[in-house]
Amino acid sequence: MKILVINAGSSSLKYQLIDMDDESVKAKGLVERIGIEGTHFKHNVLGTDKEIEFTRNMADHTEAIAAVLEALTDKENGAIASLDEIGACGHRVLHGGETFKESALVTEESLKEIEALIPLGPLHQRANIAGIKACQSVMPTKPNVAVFDTAFHQTMPKKAFLYGVPYKYYKDLKVRRYGFHGTSHRFIAGEAPKYIGKAADDCKLIICHLGNGSSLSAVVNGKVVDTSMGLTPLEGLLMGSRSGDLDPAVLEYIMDNTGMDIHQMLNMLNKQSGFAGLSVSSDMRDVKAAAAKGDELAKAAVDIWTYRVQKYIGAYNVAVGGADAIVFTAGIGENDTQACADVIGGLAFMGVKIDPAKNVRGNAGVISTDDSTIKVLRLSTNEELPIARDTLAIVSRL
Ligand code: ADP
Repeated sequence: MKILVINAGSSSLKYQLIDMDDESVKAKGLVERIGIEGTHFKHNVLGTDKEIEFTRNMADHTEAIAAVLEALTDKENGAIASLDEIGACGHRVLHGGETFKESALVTEESLKEIEALIPLGPLHQRANIAGIKACQSVMPTKPNVAVFDTAFHQTMPKKAFLYGVPYKYYKDLKVRRYGFHGTSHRFIAGEAPKYIGKAADDCKLIICHLGNGSSLSAVVNGKVVDTSMGLTPLEGLLMGSRSGDLDPAVLEYIMDNTGMDIHQMLNMLNKQSGFAGLSVSSDMRDVKAAAAKGDELAKAAVDIWTYRVQKYIGAYNVAVGGADAIVFTAGIGENDTQACADVIGGLAFMGVKIDPAKNVRGNAGVISTDDSTIKVLRLSTNEELPIARDTLAIVSRL
């Protein structure tokens, strides 16, 4: 069976067509600027030179999905002969709240529950729902499955997920830590044990998903016991454009002194902070290039980023009760070997050591020395495959 995996953003839509016989990606693409002048479409069929690229205004996600299906079945540059080859669609959905502890078939009832969670992540949740509805309208006979960014973290105990605010806000409004990047953390939690010769249900991991958005998770025997993102993805590490942890009183102080309202404030904390706020760009490569030229603020931004990852690793080593492995993944974790070496450099006192000969880009697996007290791994994440796997498992039961 082939599964179409959809990741719908507010003005974008990424897709992959995955053949579940061998879990290979047949085609993938990206629609950008949906609902904005100059919608851009790009599609390619993997392992071939088949490509489709054009700019044509698309008003909404339904038009975008229609364009995706046209491209997938295009006689010359498509990947499949007809839509009959697509068995189901799997959708990345931001928030499952406490309702969804695992992936779910989209039904009238579950869609209502997904809609009820809009207040917890308005922009993304609405976009994800638009993606689901677009598939329903363009392919009414195909089943849709929702795979939640938060679901894998639902195993956290109360001591990790409750905030120290009056309990009524949890009871009435479900204010708590949820965590995100769940499909990535779950994929890595499944892969890492294979590299360290342990069973997944007997393994303590600290997973560092370090990309533009970044989060750490503490995983014991395949279950999350803590994670760094919170009610929203704003909490935790310093990120490309998010501040991560800060004293909430900072908000009132800045607002009182600038006249900003709460929406402007949160926009600033989500979109203009982190690397983007401290330095030249939200991209680690640009920040490092500036640091290399002697830009002191860029150097400080990299130091802040590194220090915060180190602090979380220290905390999560406690959370898991002594880790078997620290795993680096996502854009920075997979590519920036120096960033990983710098983070681990701060753990030398614990006997954790990187082997420079193994710490090479593209080298997946163990990158620590044989005598390191905790193994260090670099693994490529895959956020689409878990969506396709869950979709297949759920539709196979229908
Ligand atoms: P997103 O959260 O958007 O999925 P990614 O996982 O793609 O983000 O990660 C983007 C980050 O990875 C950027 O900060 C980028 O600088 C960094 N990155 C990607 N490639 C490299 C590289 N070769 N060296 C250093 N950093 C890299």
